[in-house]
Amino acid sequence: MVKKDATDGERLCTFIKKNLIDDDLWPEFSSALIATGRDKEWRLFVEEVISTQLTGRLVSSGKSIAEDLGGKKFILTLQFEQRMKSLIDETTRGGLGNRDVKARLTDLTTNAVLATYETLKAADDKLIRTEAGRVPQCFLCNRRLVMVKGAAVRELSEDERQLAVEVEHVWPRSYGGNTIAENLAFACHGCNQRKENYANWAMVDSQSFILGWNPDTDDLQEVPGWRRFALTSWRAHQIAENGSLTLKQAFFRLTSVVLDRPRVMRLADAADFFNITNHTEID
Ligand SMILES: [Zn+2]
Repeated sequence: MVKKDATDGERLCTFIKKNLIDDDLWPEFSSALIATGRDKEWRLFVEEVISTQLTGRLVSSGKSIAEDLGGKKFILTLQFEQRMKSLIDETTRGGLGNRDVKARLTDLTTNAVLATYETLKAADDKLIRTEAGRVPQCFLCNRRLVMVKGAAVRELSEDERQLAVEVEHVWPRSYGGNTIAENLAFACHGCNQRKENYANWAMVDSQSFILGWNPDTDDLQEVPGWRRFALTSWRAHQIAENGSLTLKQAFFRLTSVVLDRPRVMRLADAADFFNITNHTEID
């Protein structure tokens, strides 16, 4: 099964993963790493980093082109298309022999650039407010939100302010995340700040997420917010892939505790990123 892509940015990212990364090399890569016991995880990591990184680069460069031409309304012009095509040639070093792949990549990038211009529609705002009868809770830490926005936030105490509601793009806008109900969820101010602008777990410098051999509880307490987000996001990606769900649906299956202490999963195995967790799953 594959993850259900809710946004144009994710569709671009999935296309890159499938068409721009040479699949024939994976068996060699995996067998070179088999003795690490994390070969599958490293492969996913490399795939995720490359495809997400390239998605971000294409969207951001495409947006610069649009702005250079005069804004959103120039995106569907021939001028934009031509500049996008040469950008893609440059970015991929002319390595896309297949013309269909290049055309599709241009279309998908164009859609993802358009997505960055979307604004919240009243209907979507209403939908996420009433979603599935859930009490208004943060999709990252599941704590109950303080439903106060704008100037009124200043009246709140420091603790309440951390829980003030913010509308968050599950797949970030800068990576082509649409402003639609399927990609928006409520987050608390605290989590939203800690998540920063990362698209997924592999972007969160998790390659250096090593806490030494069998970290003690103090070490785990020191794990910063963006890495805690990485732990939850990693599991959400797996759940989305295994169940053909959107990222948002997958996040909703987790009672993540982004603000709480991560823990080691298999105590007999020293704890690196792939052996630490900070959530439980809803059946
Ligand atoms: Zn939160």
